[in-house]
Amino acid sequence: MLSYIVTKNHGTITNTYNPRTYELIYKTVMINNRQARYIVNRDFHMVNGHALINHGRLMYDFGLTRQEAQHQQRERFSTEQNAAMAFALMYNQRSRDEGEEFAASINRHSDGRFSFSGVTSSLAPGNTQCVDSVNLPIFPNTVATIHTHWAWYHARCFTQKDLDLYLHMMVEDNRPLNHYVVNRQGTVRFVSPVSNNTAFSRPRTVFAI
Ligand SMILES: [Zn+2]
Repeated sequence: MLSYIVTKNHGTITNTYNPRTYELIYKTVMINNRQARYIVNRDFHMVNGHALINHGRLMYDFGLTRQEAQHQQRERFSTEQNAAMAFALMYNQRSRDEGEEFAASINRHSDGRFSFSGVTSSLAPGNTQCVDSVNLPIFPNTVATIHTHWAWYHARCFTQKDLDLYLHMMVEDNRPLNHYVVNRQGTVRFVSPVSNNTAFSRPRTVFAI
């Protein structure tokens, strides 16, 4: 998410719009006294209100390190969904490349902002069991969980095993959390507790990176 990357590197963004249609044409970014212009739908695309741009491009254009150009664990985001998107951007491709599922908790901090942390992965590459059944990190301030799917056969949505685990956590452990899954193709799906914490909502798509 370009706005967060620019902010953490103490830069600025200026938007330029078409004066007749008011549509965004390009963004001018300044970091480290260097300037770059990014054209919408060519250099970046908009997802859920955020400009997504390849981190390699930012490293090249502004001389940033990988850590400076990407999102990291424990960085703060203004919404739970933004923290979910940051995790998805970090781990969707890596999960596919390595044949592992990655999981994290999404935590709400005392400043009202959110981060993902406690990133864990399935025990061995090629293990097709959901990582959340192995080790899903939960902290006192956890409000949601998120994990990736890479295998084709359960790439589309939560598995029944996922949903059974979430129900157990909610009913038996009294942890009524939201849950996200990042599917192989980058679609992020979501369930939340309903009905006095005895069931979950139907899974719905919140965004696709
Ligand atoms: Zn799963």
